[in-house]
Amino acid sequence: MKKLQSIKYWIFDLDNTLYSGKTKVFDQVDKKMSQFISEKLKVNAHEAKKIQKNYFHEYNTTLNGMIKNHKINANEFLDFVHDIDINFLKKDVSLNEELEKLDGKKIIFTNGSKKHAINITTKIGIRQHFSDIFDIVDSDFIPKPAIEPYKKLVGRHKIDPKLCAFVEDIARNLKPAYEMGMKTIWIENDEPWAKKFSESNFINYKTNNLSEFLKQINLLKAA
Ligand SMILES: [Mg+2]
Repeated sequence: MKKLQSIKYWIFDLDNTLYSGKTKVFDQVDKKMSQFISEKLKVNAHEAKKIQKNYFHEYNTTLNGMIKNHKINANEFLDFVHDIDINFLKKDVSLNEELEKLDGKKIIFTNGSKKHAINITTKIGIRQHFSDIFDIVDSDFIPKPAIEPYKKLVGRHKIDPKLCAFVEDIARNLKPAYEMGMKTIWIENDEPWAKKFSESNFINYKTNNLSEFLKQINLLKAA
């Protein structure tokens, strides 16, 4: 934990990282993706789900598979799948407090869209902490864990990866970050595809509560 005090740049994934997977927000996005596929490719719901999963596993995002195979309009897809109900989300008072105390620049790095990241972080009351949202458009539609977007992000902000910490719920997305020299923090969860590789040596820290984790770092500073 002490090593994290020298971190100058905090990079956070969005979905199931800055808010809990238990909210099932991403399940809504998941359903909208199926619906989009079903409507665009004129297939039934079952077939759409199958295509979606295949693309996710082969291309790391459903969107990437849809672009490569069906030349869809990416913005249309992103707007459609992120048009979900987040009214039930509550302000995250403790996360807000710890982000406020946490030293360093904070950046969101997501395979989703900027609009979705703004909607969510505004709703839970933490939007003001982030100086940049690096989304799938910034990533040139090359999703994590391909190394290209990590390099582009670091290049854009002219930052030394050794001064970065990267926080994610999908374990394999931490690998490129670690290889570039970042400290890596895995948000523990039980999704089989997200926890795959979570026992690997490219994970420096694990937590099941992000606010609590940041609190420990902030307390070290205060001591
Ligand atoms: Mg995530």
